Amino acid sequence: MNFHFTEEQRLLKEAFDDFVKQEIAPNAAKWDEEDYCPVELFPKIGELGILGIYVPEEYGGSGLGHVERVMALESIARHSPGVAMFVFTHQLGISAILDYGTEEQKKKYLPLLCSGEKIGGLATTEPGGGSDVAGQKTEAVLKDGKWHLNGRKCFITNSHVADYTILTAKTGVDDKGRGIFSAILVEKGTEGFAPGRKEHKLGLRGSVTGELILSGAVVPEENLIGTVGNGNAAALKVIGEVGRASMTAICVGILRGCLEESVKFANDRILYGKPISKLQAIQFHIAENRLDYEAANLLLYRAACLKDEGVPTTTEFGMAKHFGTEAASRAAKRTIELMGAYGVINEYPTGRFLRDAITSISSGGTSEIQRIIIAGDTLKKYGS
Ligand SMILES: Cc1cc2nc3c(=O)[nH]c(=O)nc-3n(C[C@H](O)[C@H](O)[C@H](O)COP(=O)(O)OP(=O)(O)OC[C@H]3O[C@@H](n4cnc5c(N)ncnc54)[C@H](O)[C@@H]3O)c2cc1C
Repeated sequence: MNFHFTEEQRLLKEAFDDFVKQEIAPNAAKWDEEDYCPVELFPKIGELGILGIYVPEEYGGSGLGHVERVMALESIARHSPGVAMFVFTHQLGISAILDYGTEEQKKKYLPLLCSGEKIGGLATTEPGGGSDVAGQKTEAVLKDGKWHLNGRKCFITNSHVADYTILTAKTGVDDKGRGIFSAILVEKGTEGFAPGRKEHKLGLRGSVTGELILSGAVVPEENLIGTVGNGNAAALKVIGEVGRASMTAICVGILRGCLEESVKFANDRILYGKPISKLQAIQFHIAENRLDYEAANLLLYRAACLKDEGVPTTTEFGMAKHFGTEAASRAAKRTIELMGAYGVINEYPTGRFLRDAITSISSGGTSEIQRIIIAGDTLKKYGS
């Protein structure tokens, strides 16, 4: 058991932090206020090797792992959870192709996605409910070697900027009348496929969230990712591991922000002739921020290590995501309280911390859904 990053990982983290300090931190508040998605930064993030950091080099990636992937996301999220959301949703598209695509699909799409030349996304959620994946209404019918798609996806990250969206659609029913779902890649510009309404979100601003409308879109049969019928399983596995790891990394970034801001403010703010960091009640807030940060950090990196070892990690990332998103929300509120009126002034990042943390709770599966996953695994594992 080793709780230290390797020297290579430490240097990598420093490089990510430097990049974020130069290219992201100075603009983070502006992008949040204007809800601006910095697509022009994408090739630069690709050049640094972040987009395909865990993708084998033969497909244009850096050949590292999920530990390094979440390290990069945590660095970005320390200053802009919205940009981290943009980056990791792109990686959901990458993962679907990497884990379920054919050799031909990997060679065709992955180098373009790893370099940032093209933007990816993954769409399952529909107006009928994101938790109820079997209730999806989007349909794909195979006719003359082509998929004909109709339906509507909502709350999709990168909806208006993605070049390649992997979406799930109902492609039939089994002998018990239950839906069969498959994953299909749809390219931007396909006739009958267009982004719809763009959402005005509370947090994670700077990442685009919106609808995707399919009205008679036609794509080649070979755009199927995986096999007919494994679409929901594939999407849930990618969201359950890569997506929830990423949401936790975002929240670890926010928790780090809460920690640094609360210490800085408590040392700078003078009351009764001395810094408020001398008050025990303030120290207790700081101690709780530290505890939340360290615990989320451990859950995240332990699960990422296990994933790199090839162990199934849906429950581990479910626990990390549940704890991380709730911890970031309470730490952000705690930090605002510690700062008195300053905490709610938008010159400080604390309001953004709270908005971003709360917005993270439903994205990638709500806390109730995580509790269902954790309980199911616990009943199995700890039952006699
Ligand atoms: C910022 C953001 C980005 C997103 N990006 C994407 C994306 O890129 N791709 C994508 O496909 N989706 C995306 N989503 C959608 C997200 O995955 C869904 O919001 C999530 O799955 C929950 O679905 P819902 O919002 O429809 O809530 P519902 O499923 O309608 O849930 C409503 C309430 O019911 C509860 N509930 C549901 N089922 C149960 C149950 N069995 N037991 C107990 N309680 C239950 C939920 O916990 C919740 O409190 C994004 C969402 C957000 C906020």
